[in-house]
Formats: sequence, C-alpha cells, structure tokens
Amino acid sequence: MEKPQFKYSPNAYSINVFKEEKGVCSVCNKGREIKYTGSFYSVESPSYICPWCIADGSTAEKYKGDFNDYLGIEGVSPDPADPPPEIEMNLLLEITDKTPSYVSWQQEVWLTHCKEPCAFIGYVDAETIKPLLEELKDDIEGGIGMNAEYLKENLTQDGHLVGYLFQCLKCGQHRLHADCD
Ligand SMILES: [Zn+2]
Ligand SMILES: [Zn+2]
Repeated sequence: MEKPQFKYSPNAYSINVFKEEKGVCSVCNKGREIKYTGSFYSVESPSYICPWCIADGSTAEKYKGDFNDYLGIEGVSPDPADPPPEIEMNLLLEITDKTPSYVSWQQEVWLTHCKEPCAFIGYVDAETIKPLLEELKDDIEGGIGMNAEYLKENLTQDGHLVGYLFQCLKCGQHRLHADCD
C-alpha cells in the first residue's frame, strides 16, 4: 500500500519520526505496519498513529491535538494584540494538524517564506550546509541567534547542536534553524 506523502515534509519517512511496527491504529482501527513516533500534543495520547491518519487530519480532529505547535510557526505571534499572520490559516493548520513533526532538542520551529510554510528537508551538519551558506546567510547570522562562526563549524545531524534545513516550496530558497541540548 502506497504511503501518504506530506507536502511540507517530503522526506517524512527518513527523518526518524516513523518506525516499522505492527499494530492497530488508535484512530482508524486498521492493522498497520508503520507507526508515528514523533511529537503529538494532546490531552489524551493515542498509542498508535498511522501516517494515513496524520495526512487526512483525523488524528488531530479526534484527539484535538497538534503535531507541530502553532506558535512555533514563524510569523505567528503569541500576542493576540499583534496583527494576524500573513500566512493563510488553512496552510498553518496543514502544519499543525496534518504534517508530521521532526526530532529536535527544543520545541520545534517551523520556518516560512513567501507567505507559506517551508518544507522540512532534514537534519544537516556543517558540511552539508557549505554549498548553501550564501542562501542561509540571514538565518546563520541573525535568525538563529547563535554565534555564526560557531554554527558554521559545529553543526551536526545528530549531536548536541543540530541543524534543521527547510526549503520554500514557492521560490526554492533554503532556510536554516538550529538548536542544542
Ligand atoms: Zn490510522
Ligand atoms: Zn520563498
């Protein structure tokens, strides 16, 4: 059976948020062989979430939860007095309700560009971002809020300081987020 694809997480099956495990999905009650292991924020936590029930929004609806924190989306302000985000609400809900999360040390951040959420590409280290340094300049030198030189040299895919690469689906621009334990 063809697994569902996620527009904003095109590599979802290779970023350590799913694992092969037989079970019955808590949402659709079907026997499945692939289980979601990433974050899901809800009062009651389902023991087994299958990718189909992420993609169609049924998990978020049934458990009234989020895969990604709404306030973690770049451009969304926690202050209700601030102007509303420039990104359409249905696109924001696609990230919170229908997109698998990624593994991070701190609360996930979801970067945006061209008034749209970016796609999460994967975990990146100092070597991987070398060809992209010019494109990632603004993020490295300001957005992330860490020393730029330190970042450029010490970023890892799975160590204490991890890089998270995103890409704008409209213009192709890469964006970088990083955090540490
Ligand atoms: Zn399911
Ligand atoms: Zn863009």
